[in-house]
Amino acid sequence: MALHRIFNFNAGPAVLPLPVLEEIQASFLDYRSSGMSITEISHRSKLFDEVINDAVARAKRLLNLGEDFHVLFIQGGASLQFAMLPMNLLPKDRFADYVNTGTWSTKAIKEAEILKKDIRVVASSKDRDFCYIPKNISFNRDAVYVHLTSNNTIKGTQWANFPDTAGVPIIADMSSDILSRRLDMKKFGLIYAGAQKNIGPAGVCMVIIRDDLLKQIPEGLPSMLDYRTYATSNSLYNTPPCFTIYTIQLVLKWLEETVGGLDAMEKINRQKARLLYDFIDAGEFYRGTADKDSRSFMNVTFRLPSEELEKKFIAEATENGLGGLKGHRSVGGCRASIYNAMPTEGVAALVDFMKHFEQKNA
Ligand SMILES: *Cc1c(COP(=O)(O)O)cnc(C)c1O
Repeated sequence: MALHRIFNFNAGPAVLPLPVLEEIQASFLDYRSSGMSITEISHRSKLFDEVINDAVARAKRLLNLGEDFHVLFIQGGASLQFAMLPMNLLPKDRFADYVNTGTWSTKAIKEAEILKKDIRVVASSKDRDFCYIPKNISFNRDAVYVHLTSNNTIKGTQWANFPDTAGVPIIADMSSDILSRRLDMKKFGLIYAGAQKNIGPAGVCMVIIRDDLLKQIPEGLPSMLDYRTYATSNSLYNTPPCFTIYTIQLVLKWLEETVGGLDAMEKINRQKARLLYDFIDAGEFYRGTADKDSRSFMNVTFRLPSEELEKKFIAEATENGLGGLKGHRSVGGCRASIYNAMPTEGVAALVDFMKHFEQKNA
């Protein structure tokens, strides 16, 4: 039977590179002649050590990380990081700046507030339903960190450039755009990303933390909620999600060896986004929901003239092998998530479908 694959525009869990899935399939029953599946081997084995070490080494090479950064794998998704961050990094007598650019920033703020931490929301785009990234923000020089969401998966906005925070380290939720573009890590103290958007299946959050921040963590945190536990054990304090980490390793290998690194990836990502936005902007039928200077090149959000047409559009797109185009349940409309693993042909097929749909329904 021929392989049935659609163009998958889901926001997360999301499309993975086909060569990665094929490699998993080929080695699934007998991983590297061990006679065991990758899902059956011990996390204390040499085989798994090689997997996790290679994943860490590739992440460091791709992001050009110096020796002062640690790459950790932590369960609980990006959502647990909303709480772990202030628990580990924000002492009682200090405060942190937060920028609110949407649903996920709001949740990060909420968790810090539950912990009764002193946080200051220095900018927000809530006044226009989070359709833009705030500019000219006055950050506090004595903040411990600045928290922001680099790409707003639901609202379709993204920081094009990261702000100047006068030396205060930025902590960024990069769940939906990690490893999509080159990054200057000098500005960042910590970045984190739930794997299931751009780097793997669900089950783990990648956390990249600078050594000096690690040294400031107070005593008394439960082991599983303390970054140092992961840093000192190579993320092997308890049983990690081995299969997820294995898949991440393969995705990073694909990114390094097949795509050719982050510069090449960024170029492709920008081409894909331009293809789609140029088409949306050329007519009146489709309308992008984010301000042009704040648009995401990972999650493209748009509306049609009516909700009925949106329903019809999503249904007919699905019939045509274009899946996952429904906007997040909290905002409606349409969203095409075009992560690293979405090929340019997928975006071209979507644009083609959009053209035909408009011709029939305008
Ligand atoms: C999906 C997402 C989250 C939540 O991730 P979980 O792993 O489900 O906790 C947080 N932040 C952003 C930007 C996301 O896209």
